[in-house]
Parts: sequence; C-alpha cells; structure tokens
Amino acid sequence: MFTCRNQSCGAQWELPDVLIKNEGQGLLFRCPMCGARNYVERHDAADGAITYEQVTDIPPHGKH
Ligand SMILES: [Zn+2]
Repeated sequence: MFTCRNQSCGAQWELPDVLIKNEGQGLLFRCPMCGARNYVERHDAADGAITYEQVTDIPPHGKH
C-alpha cells in the first residue's frame, strides 16, 4: 500500500489504484486525489513478480 506524501492529503492507495510511470526522474505515480508525485522503486523478484516500494526521500532533481 502507498501513502500520498502530501501531508495534507495522506490518501492511501493500492497498486491497481495508481498509474506508475517514469517522468524522467525515476518511477513515480501521481496521487489520484491531489496529483502529488510519489516516487516508487521497482523490485523484480526471481520468479518474475514485479513489486513496487514507495520511497520516502525525494530524489535529487536535475540529475542526468
Ligand atoms: Zn495525495
């Protein structure tokens, strides 16, 4: 489960609720409620299962 990092929102989402995409600074989803960017990390298990883990620290901007 993911929790929107916008503290005034704080909505919780399951993976099927959100669209995970890469906008150039890493994988993220936009909160369906407030539109805040929430970054996630993809994990590929040995059996092929893909899971996503929310990252709470914001990655540096302007990284190339
Ligand atoms: Zn939100």
